[in-house]
Amino acid sequence: MQPTIDEQPNTPGLPVAPPEKKEAVDKTLKELEAEKKAAEETKKNRGIRKFFRGLGHAVATPFRPIQKIFAKLRLPLTAKMLLNFSVIFTLVLVGYTVFMVVSVSTYIEPEDRSYLIATSAIIVSLAIIIFTALTGVISSLVLDPIRRIGDGIEKITAEDLSKRLEPVDTQDELMKLTGLINGMLENIEATFTRQENFIADASHELKTPISVISGYANMLKRWGAKDEQILDEAIEAIARESENMQRLMDQLLILARVGELSMNVTRFDADEALREIADGYKLVHKTHRICYKGDEGVILETDKSLLIELVRILTDNAVKYTPENGEITMECRLKGDALKISIEDTGMGISPEDLPHIYDRFFRCDKARGREKGGTGLGLTIARSIADTLGGEIDVKSALGKGTKFTFTLY
Ligand code: ADP
Repeated sequence: MQPTIDEQPNTPGLPVAPPEKKEAVDKTLKELEAEKKAAEETKKNRGIRKFFRGLGHAVATPFRPIQKIFAKLRLPLTAKMLLNFSVIFTLVLVGYTVFMVVSVSTYIEPEDRSYLIATSAIIVSLAIIIFTALTGVISSLVLDPIRRIGDGIEKITAEDLSKRLEPVDTQDELMKLTGLINGMLENIEATFTRQENFIADASHELKTPISVISGYANMLKRWGAKDEQILDEAIEAIARESENMQRLMDQLLILARVGELSMNVTRFDADEALREIADGYKLVHKTHRICYKGDEGVILETDKSLLIELVRILTDNAVKYTPENGEITMECRLKGDALKISIEDTGMGISPEDLPHIYDRFFRCDKARGREKGGTGLGLTIARSIADTLGGEIDVKSALGKGTKFTFTLY
């Protein structure tokens, strides 16, 4: 339908807009007008700001050399400010007084000249003393929040990042600066705590395989060489634990990199990529019934290797936590604008109490069984970080004893 414009209602031949349309058009025109005015206003304000900045710059230019000298002096900021203003004030006042005295002296008697010079000198000196005292008090008051910020920062150390700067209520840049510093401290503290926890968790996780390996090595040293059963058991345990350690190290390295991963975006057929992954799993895990269903020709533009890593983590878990003969279904579907990749199993499932924690670092629903199955408790943490990097999200549905379905949605 063609839009009707009722700008010239009396023009013959032109269609007349219905009242409600006219209202809508008027409203839009008013909005456009307001926007135009606001833009003009901003332009004007920007011009005024630019003018005052230029003026300030021009006025300050002659005093730059003095400023440079003061910058080199090892004095507190209050003293520098005091000196700065006092020198400028003195120069201006003395200059003006000398000019006035010289101008006036030609009109007065010579005996009155010395009186004029003496009175002028006294008045100028008094003015300088009063000005200096006032400037000292004002500078000290103005700079007090900066001193407090400095004192606060001095108290914050790498060992104790919980301290914050006292908020200053000056309604200006200093208040903003204090807020920014406190925000920055908040972030630094959170990052530090995360790193500390990560190191503590990682070393705790490495302790178990190391103590198992050293326990079996000691046993071998004492009796192993002669006892065939101990020898076999020890070799198997050492090989298993070394493998666990290797996996843990690999995953820790991925996790350390995940936050800084740069996306290598390419165009590829998601259905084809997932079908290939499923075929690979079918070949290796003949103990499970693995099937794949997907919409054909789903072209994606994202980081292919990250997506594959994510799918592998979810599929590895499905295989790990599903007993033999269990079924694993991988799906790749296009729903509206979103692509949904799901991996569903008929395995042991996850209890409702454990579900909120499965993405936590080193979380395993069953610690002992998780280790036995070669789990590190890092897989889903990595999966979630990859999902975030790709700009998608992971969702999970699970019923204990029945199975689990993970769905990755990419918009
Ligand atoms: P892990 O390396 O231990 O598998 P993950 O971070 O991948 O670590 O998973 C965390 C925990 O979530 C696992 O230890 C397991 O208990 C549970 N889990 C993950 N996927 C499944 C699944 N498909 N079925 C049942 N439990 C699962």
